[in-house]
Amino acid sequence: MKLFSRVLAAVAALAGAAALVAPVRAQDYPTRSITMIVPFAAGGPTDVVARIVTAHMAQTVGQSIIIENVVGAGGTTATTRAARAANDGYTLITGHMGTHAAAVPLYPKLAYHPEKDFEPVALLAGTPILILARKDFPPQDLKEFIAYVKANTAKLNAAHAGIGSVSHVSCELLNSVLDIKPTGVPFNGTGPAMNALVGGQVDYMCDQIVNAVPQINGGTIKAYAVATPERNPSLPDLPTTAEAGLPAFQAQGWNAIFAPKGASPAVVAKLNAAASRALDDENVRKRLLDLGSAIPNPQERSPEALAALVHSEIAKWTPVLKQASN
Ligand code: ASP
Repeated sequence: MKLFSRVLAAVAALAGAAALVAPVRAQDYPTRSITMIVPFAAGGPTDVVARIVTAHMAQTVGQSIIIENVVGAGGTTATTRAARAANDGYTLITGHMGTHAAAVPLYPKLAYHPEKDFEPVALLAGTPILILARKDFPPQDLKEFIAYVKANTAKLNAAHAGIGSVSHVSCELLNSVLDIKPTGVPFNGTGPAMNALVGGQVDYMCDQIVNAVPQINGGTIKAYAVATPERNPSLPDLPTTAEAGLPAFQAQGWNAIFAPKGASPAVVAKLNAAASRALDDENVRKRLLDLGSAIPNPQERSPEALAALVHSEIAKWTPVLKQASN
């Protein structure tokens, strides 16, 4: 009996030593906390979506998922860091239409390529774009907004989250449709940009709906239109750009999780399943829907669907942005 337990102890010690040196097997993943890089400041749409979804994913994978906000250069600083991180599934990024599509034509020396340097994991949310302004901005509706910004372009400040961010590229599109060139004011995310809009330090902004709904409902900012074909259920009184007289301005952002290239398919599948489970959770759904986001249906959540989205978004935004910046 004694001998038997000694043998067992020796086997256990050997197994323990082996565990220290053996690479983590995908079926054991994750054995420690995961870092989720958010490429913008806390409180903005990307941060909010990432926090809502990863809080639920953490329960599913049984490890904490720590959000790290890494700001700068329209989200491309953080995305470069994520592209160069170890591909062991412990560093991920919540990217968006800017970092993983629009940045490609806007940064000729971009240090990563969204398709070559990442494994798509899961689409988390579609985020309609709104035209927003400080609450005392004179125009009362979109028609007045169009006339006002055309007449006052030289003195206007438009806030955005850096070159290539969703707020930047969608207002680039708006400004090119209206043929105006306001002064752009970059922030580290549209969390801080929203604070400046609420404080009246900037005039207008195009942004993902997520951090705007509470401000619009609270009357701290103005919203003129949503740039999607349908009205948004979270803001039923807000007209679409087509209804309000500017059908040429259509824009929708999205947020999605990516892992560095080479992450194992089993790890990607585990993360994808956890994200999808979060998107099926009643509480998570309610929080995302209340903030105006669109929840991807199950077919839109696969890594393959995300790869196709990234590909089509790069193809879509490249000519638009090249033309807008001329
Ligand atoms: N919505 C922002 C953008 O304009 C970034 C953020 O999430 O703060 O890209």
